[in-house]
Amino acid sequence: MDIFQHYIDGCFEEASQTFDSIDPATAQPWARMPRAGAQDVDRAVRAADRALRDPAWAGLNATQRGRLLFRLADLIERDVALLAQLETRDTGKIIRETSFQLRYVAEYYRYYGGLADKIEGRCVPVDKPDMEAFIHNEPIGVVAAIVPWNSQLFLSAVKLAPALAAGCTIVLKASEEAPAPLLAFARLVHEAGFPPGVLSILTGFGDDCGRCLTSHPLVSRIAFTGGPATARHVVRNSAENLASLSLELGGKSPMLVFGDADLDSTVNAIMAGIFAASGQSCVAGSRLLVHKDIAGELLSRLAGRAGLIRIGAPDDLTTEMGPLATKRQLEHVDALVKRSVEQGAALVTGGKPATQAGAGYYYEPTILLCENAQTACLEEEFFGPVLSVLLFEDEADAIQKANDSKFGLAAGVFTQNLARAHRVVKALRSGVVWVNTYRVISPMMPFGGYGLSGLGREGGREAIGDYLRTKSVWIRTSDEPISDPFVMR
Ligand code: NDP
Repeated sequence: MDIFQHYIDGCFEEASQTFDSIDPATAQPWARMPRAGAQDVDRAVRAADRALRDPAWAGLNATQRGRLLFRLADLIERDVALLAQLETRDTGKIIRETSFQLRYVAEYYRYYGGLADKIEGRCVPVDKPDMEAFIHNEPIGVVAAIVPWNSQLFLSAVKLAPALAAGCTIVLKASEEAPAPLLAFARLVHEAGFPPGVLSILTGFGDDCGRCLTSHPLVSRIAFTGGPATARHVVRNSAENLASLSLELGGKSPMLVFGDADLDSTVNAIMAGIFAASGQSCVAGSRLLVHKDIAGELLSRLAGRAGLIRIGAPDDLTTEMGPLATKRQLEHVDALVKRSVEQGAALVTGGKPATQAGAGYYYEPTILLCENAQTACLEEEFFGPVLSVLLFEDEADAIQKANDSKFGLAAGVFTQNLARAHRVVKALRSGVVWVNTYRVISPMMPFGGYGLSGLGREGGREAIGDYLRTKSVWIRTSDEPISDPFVMR
């Protein structure tokens, strides 16, 4: 078995406790992971707090911080093959996807590296005589970053890159499911030359490691990605340190297909929206809302294409869909499909584990046609390869059904009518809207949701502001003595 180590305060260490990581393609343990406890978390946070004031980090100017981020980006690019192979092994995500995504992860570090020395303060023409007033931006402090098991390198990049550019220090907790790629990434952080304590990377269970980290008194900001139930724990934990928060949570994202949509293109977008990463994506387009007049044709095309998806070993370059990441995930998806069918949803295709692909956690690409919006598959997040379909009558009905969700992360709109596209974009209660495309992302664009999909935004220039706090400075410029405060003039 491969053995992984923590990275705390610039050192790679064995942990006193370990746990096994399971290869989802074979359902067998393949690596031994360190399990951080409260003491490890405390050491990492204290090291981060020290590093905030250590001249090795605090003494760097912003351009030098940016250069470290560029160097890290280059190292990620150099090691894409290794990191992709580890992510594929630990999550079951297919190698084509992990290789492609990881090359792009480097761009996040470059983008924020470039922004590091564009962080500026400002002078304020304050309404008082003989005063110079200005605002400094300072790093907010120690950041606790927590990511779930899917796309850990990507989901951590949107936190680490702006936080490091701002001059913060970070303790990153990888998910206990599939932490291998982040623990390997720690080697690149070390090689890039970040001073000890600036970025520690550890993994452990949510209840001890995650709780200690998010409630630690020296933490000033929490950047969390995960499910809404865990987010509630994190919010409660943050009552201890009153840290500011960003929460990137789940979704039940609608794809609205109008009668005039280009169906060839739309079918490809829908397939990518729901079946890429075996549906284990926060922006999975898991609710298909389709105009009743084209539903028959669209569904038959989707079912035909879904039936052709090559399910198999994630490290095989010809595989199009790999396993789900965990047994728990497989059981959750299967149970939710069964519950939805009991509630009246009709199975168009799929609907059971794909046992022909081996002993791993494979599930068939599944499409469910629902009669009403109160079906479980339209309300709850699968985080799996299941598309739930509901028909609509007209534009108003489509918007009402799209917004009828406790989530509001992403949405897709497919139409050739530009005026309608603008109307629908405006009406959708969703943090990201794609028109005639899906799943496009960039470090330059903010990302985040409404409602139970989260709080705050990651990505874009604005994200750096989350890792800064202001200091307001007043300087009296008069040489006159300060007058007696008890004599009113
Ligand atoms: P979880 O919410 O279960 O876990 C997320 C992270 O929180 C993990 O690292 C977990 O650790 C940790 N954690 C668990 N309990 C606590 C606690 N009490 N205090 C602090 N941290 C804790 O999510 P999943 O791993 O199941 O991931 C799937 C979810 O993530 C889905 O809802 C998905 O939509 C969402 N997601 C959102 C994205 C977005 O950008 N909006 C992107 C990707 C996923 P451990 O694993 O060790 O339990």
